[in-house]
Amino acid sequence: MTETNESLALRATAFAAEVHTHQRRKGAAAEPYVNHVIEVGAALAAAGAPLAAILAGLLHDTIEDGDSAGRPVTEAELAERFGEEVAAIVAEVTDDKALPKAERKRLQIEKAPGKSAAARMVKLADKAANLRAITVSPPPSWDLARKRDYIDWAEAVAAGCRGVNPTLEAAFDTALALARTALEDQTLD
Ligand code: ZN
Repeated sequence: MTETNESLALRATAFAAEVHTHQRRKGAAAEPYVNHVIEVGAALAAAGAPLAAILAGLLHDTIEDGDSAGRPVTEAELAERFGEEVAAIVAEVTDDKALPKAERKRLQIEKAPGKSAAARMVKLADKAANLRAITVSPPPSWDLARKRDYIDWAEAVAAGCRGVNPTLEAAFDTALALARTALEDQTLD
């Protein structure tokens, strides 16, 4: 029997929940990390993204964070569980943690335009979710300058992801505008 799309999506969600079990978001509310990847997957689905992009959205941090979360995940394991296409998209949006953070952030901007359409969709949805998180529940240790740097960086990465899905772009632009407004309000406080 061929697996249905619903079954695949829920299996990816369950797998992400397992990998991120002990991980929390950096925001003040310390939400379970899996909330973030579900938000990304749901945004992709709502925007009519292809199934492979939705699955990759649910799984987008499993390779990058699996090590630190105590449940290492490889591209080969994802390929076995969810197919080569999904695994390749996740690999495309995975940073090389061997590089210093500043270099990884620079490479995200530089490489975004050369990524596949599905990878750019995942990145747009991911950056929009992160901007919403910074607006609603910012990490307590982040000062205004750090938030502003993050917002500017997310905008630069997203600029290289445009042209693949107007709904995701519009959602990103809304999240960006709200993040900037929230920052201005804090500057005035
Ligand atoms: Zn993410």
